[in-house]
Amino acid sequence: MPSLKNKVLKFFFDILFPAFCVGCKKEGRFLCPSCRQKIVVKRVPEYPPQKTGVKTLFAATDYHAKLISDLIARYKYGFADELHADLADLLIEHARRAQFQKRDDHIIAAVPLHRRRLHWRGFNQADLLARRVAGHFAIPYRPGALARIKNTAPQIEMTDRKDRLENIKGAFACVDKSAVRNKTVILVDDVSTTGATLAECAWALKQAGARSVIGFVVAK
Ligand SMILES: [Zn+2]
Repeated sequence: MPSLKNKVLKFFFDILFPAFCVGCKKEGRFLCPSCRQKIVVKRVPEYPPQKTGVKTLFAATDYHAKLISDLIARYKYGFADELHADLADLLIEHARRAQFQKRDDHIIAAVPLHRRRLHWRGFNQADLLARRVAGHFAIPYRPGALARIKNTAPQIEMTDRKDRLENIKGAFACVDKSAVRNKTVILVDDVSTTGATLAECAWALKQAGARSVIGFVVAK
């Protein structure tokens, strides 16, 4: 949850800088209805290689579409946390179209931020998405299932695939084993490009006894 300092800052920020659509710059919302209409939501899930530990990947949209990468950057880096609802709804729409079936052993977890970055940013973008998705499908959310034990450089700033894999190695630990044991964990994040972050989280979850891991990301 945002700190008081961030809430106060946001209050003034909203007055000084009203929302403009990330797509067409129209005033009012960060994503206006007509730009929302233009977003292509995928109809099929992906099946990543077995070594990733992720059985199925539900990736709602293409990260290389300019509107999507701009929306996600806006959401992550500045005072637009309302966007979480628009982005989570893309994920929900995709899951529905791609025939996602809820099961009794499902739980939801979010890719965590290191506490230092969480403090700096004021919110975890994956956590807000996970909460909304969990609420929609009525699947239990376990916000404390994973922790980031290494403060890595942001993956998005690294272009080299090998650097990304090295950067994220050993970054996560499952800190609530009883919550994940014998469960199928739906792991939520905003973006997955190389899949390295999801794979590292999947490894930690499986070490803790998770039955399988499904990825849920807004964009890939
Ligand atoms: Zn627009």
